[in-house]
Amino acid sequence: MKLRLYNTLIRKKEEFRSLKKNKVGLYCCGPTVYNRAHIGNLRAYIFEDVLRRVLEMNAYEVKHVMNITDVGHLASDADEGEDKMILGAKREGKTVWEIAKFYEEEFNKDIKSLNIKPPTISCRVTEHIKEIIETIKKIEKNGYTYESDGNIYFDISKFKHYYNLSGHKPNDEETEARVDEDSAKRNKSDFVLWFTKSKFGNQDMQWDSPWGRGFPGWHVECSAMSIKYLGEQFDIHCGGIDHVNIHHTNEIAQSEASTGKHSWVKYWLHNEFLVMDKGKMAKSAGEFLTLTNLEKKGYNPLVYRYFCLGAHYRQQLKFSWEGLDGALNTYNRCKEKIIELKEKNEQFKETEYQEEKTEEYMASFTNAINDDLNTPQALAVMWSVLRDEEIDTREKLALLYRFDDFLGLGFRSYFRDKVDVPKEVKKIMAQREDARMHKDWQKADKLRDRISEAGFMVIDTDDGPKIEKGE
Ligand SMILES: [Zn+2]
Repeated sequence: MKLRLYNTLIRKKEEFRSLKKNKVGLYCCGPTVYNRAHIGNLRAYIFEDVLRRVLEMNAYEVKHVMNITDVGHLASDADEGEDKMILGAKREGKTVWEIAKFYEEEFNKDIKSLNIKPPTISCRVTEHIKEIIETIKKIEKNGYTYESDGNIYFDISKFKHYYNLSGHKPNDEETEARVDEDSAKRNKSDFVLWFTKSKFGNQDMQWDSPWGRGFPGWHVECSAMSIKYLGEQFDIHCGGIDHVNIHHTNEIAQSEASTGKHSWVKYWLHNEFLVMDKGKMAKSAGEFLTLTNLEKKGYNPLVYRYFCLGAHYRQQLKFSWEGLDGALNTYNRCKEKIIELKEKNEQFKETEYQEEKTEEYMASFTNAINDDLNTPQALAVMWSVLRDEEIDTREKLALLYRFDDFLGLGFRSYFRDKVDVPKEVKKIMAQREDARMHKDWQKADKLRDRISEAGFMVIDTDDGPKIEKGE
């Protein structure tokens, strides 16, 4: 099956055709580095990584660009609220520059431990102020801006395709409800391109511009940097579904207003939220979970990756500890089976496989991922292969490695740890088994926590529990 992707712009799946032969330009909205990424944000980067891998499996060379928002921005998607970076700096008694540098590094660590391929180009906003100013100058020259109360605004009434991506109508309640009143605006959805009148007196990050000393609005960085690295038209733009109504809508307006060309981006892909019992997980909503929180509780970050792959990216994924434990058990069973295969094939070299059945499995896997990245289906095919006792074990391993080029679960690096288990831990293991026999799950969980506190990890396999050194 040829690659088909769901394009938000036309609200259906369509066959993917790149603008240039065998090459894809991919832009993904990156993090605002004023705090750690929460696991809901990280779901978006896992989805984008999976997208990149499916393109690569379809023999495209992908140029993947992501911005790092290291300037201060406002606390909501609209141009309102408090500045996020200043809030972070106040909270930690650091300068905004230190905050940005620290959290960018933390973000890169998270990405690495989730086995997400680093973008071809990561671009910091503070290093692209010149390009941002040039973009605003072009938008201004083409007649889409006005100055009001010291700031430069984009006039959405001048841009006739403004509601194409969101599918909303002007004055639609859903859009307008998210934009707060600002008496300086001509239209409610107008937005700032350049601030000279900061609400924050001691704003550290400011630059000279034709409109006065100040700093860019949030949306314009993505237009300026994507065009710089990917050209005036490129293939795919991604982000969380929360970006559709405002951020991505504004990006399109700015980009097309600056270049004068329609169809800036051909395919728009959006991932759904990770939801908690209480609703969407968001940094601005206060409490949130980070990858470090999960690691502290003994979960390998790849277990979280596995958990995300278990749901289609366009479906909301409900986070619960029980759900994560389910992913942990399945991930560990899969890991165990791969280690067993490796042990049976110590001299294994990755070569082409011969059997017809292996080809059939590869075709089912490709069909699943080419159907708008159907990761749950791809995992189901992987499990059929793991359970199939009829295929040659060498072919099986070769096939699973091919699958992992897409899944990114790190099959090639699985090895059995040689572990000396202290007596005390063995005793807790036995108690846990006893609790499980009596279906006392709460007690069993507590005992597992004690085992992980001691630096070990229990893996429940088909042949009973096994123990490994903790991750
Ligand atoms: Zn963006």
